[in-house]
Amino acid sequence: MTAKNMEDLVSLCKRRGFIFPSNDVYGGMKGLYDFGPMGVELKMNLKNSWWKSIVYERDDIEGLDSTILTSPTVLKYSGHEDTFSDPLVDCRVCKARFRADQLESSECPKGGPLSKCKTKDLTEARAFNLMFKTAIGPVDDGSSFAYLRPETAQQIFVNFKNIIDSTSRTPPFGIAQIGKSFRNEITPRNFIFRVREFEQMELEFFVKPGSDEDWHKYWVDQRLKWWSEQGVSSDRLKLLEVEKEELSHYSKATFDIMYEFPHGLEELEGVANRTDFDLGSHTKNQEDYEINAKVTPNKSSTTKLAIQDLESKKWYIPFVIEPSAGVERGVLAILNEAYTQEDENNRTVLKLKSHLSPIKASVIPLKRNNTDLVNLANKIKVELQSLGLGRVMIENSGNIGKNYRRHDEIGTPMCITIDFETLENQSVTVRDRDTMKQERVDLSNIPTYYSNYFKNN
Ligand code: ATP
Repeated sequence: MTAKNMEDLVSLCKRRGFIFPSNDVYGGMKGLYDFGPMGVELKMNLKNSWWKSIVYERDDIEGLDSTILTSPTVLKYSGHEDTFSDPLVDCRVCKARFRADQLESSECPKGGPLSKCKTKDLTEARAFNLMFKTAIGPVDDGSSFAYLRPETAQQIFVNFKNIIDSTSRTPPFGIAQIGKSFRNEITPRNFIFRVREFEQMELEFFVKPGSDEDWHKYWVDQRLKWWSEQGVSSDRLKLLEVEKEELSHYSKATFDIMYEFPHGLEELEGVANRTDFDLGSHTKNQEDYEINAKVTPNKSSTTKLAIQDLESKKWYIPFVIEPSAGVERGVLAILNEAYTQEDENNRTVLKLKSHLSPIKASVIPLKRNNTDLVNLANKIKVELQSLGLGRVMIENSGNIGKNYRRHDEIGTPMCITIDFETLENQSVTVRDRDTMKQERVDLSNIPTYYSNYFKNN
């Protein structure tokens, strides 16, 4: 089951502490959201799951954590200064701005669809660069600035030599990074789907030219498989090959993994064959290599970003396959998939995969000010917490019905209740989120029960 509409998700996210509008006290800021106590756990669990599958469970990928502030020179040779823009039109009457390629679906700020506005007077489209700039150093006279990176990828390319020198990697191998990216989107919308500050999970996988098409297919399959392991139904995922004329300047071919979001079918992740464009653009002595892509001549680079083929001894620039996923779009898809309205049980429940659940188990003393129950609950919490599977929490409000409802809505797989029987026979009640079944488990078996649950679910 999924949410009926975006409003259901927005409301649950605010009510239960997943996601809040940013700068809320002052009316919020468009296109910016904060992740609350539950949201931060869900987001972290999703990122950890990606990192685990991309870095830990393989032996051909290294990690990186680079700076957000990026030199204009990097983004000049990457092509972002010239081409990272959206076509924009202004309305001379109401002064609002719209994306020229999204006029059909745009809303007039005075209300109603833009296409129905009778008084609108739109300018010709012009390119609007999406990168945020910030001054560097004490004097803000425009002479020294950096960009807030619009993607994490470029810093991976400019670290290529540092990484091969320090790890002795040769293609095929990859570099993975998770981090913030910033885009001055003209019309941020659809909750956390299109925002101005977001996180990306990006892999740049370097391969020998000629093997790129096979690796491209391989990564598309891997990524589809991973999304389904996160609980995203394959019925709502669609693979779309980007039309030749719509490809980015660096791409030979791109597959977009599309998801049926509450507002429609849109991109969740892009998997691009970036050819030798990036390393070719940032390398010195470009003329020494047969670079396939059309790159801008570069006299500023200080470093050779090439690999020597051990058999032929020839130097070549690797091709790059890039799976690039947005964390916020991932969170939105996962929340949508998990959202279940059970009218028969009069409850909303988030049926999250257990590795993504913000709280792994809630320990509930039946009576809040009974010292024996509360002490025992604390002891169990500490013991389960020490197993390191994620956050375990105590619910000490004394209202069991409310606690179950809250933990259903935040997707906690199990609630462990300590009641008066526990004091007599050393057993507790464990309630399963999805089936609502309750069973008595011996206190001494709880750590094993808990670990086994997360091993098997
Ligand atoms: P779109 O066409 O939807 O603007 P894009 O093709 O520009 O996306 P990419 O540059 O391929 O996106 O970025 C890779 C991923 O980063 C996207 O698949 C998406 O998940 C995420 N992403 C990009 N822009 C945003 C944004 N403004 N807000 C949230 N996530 C984003």
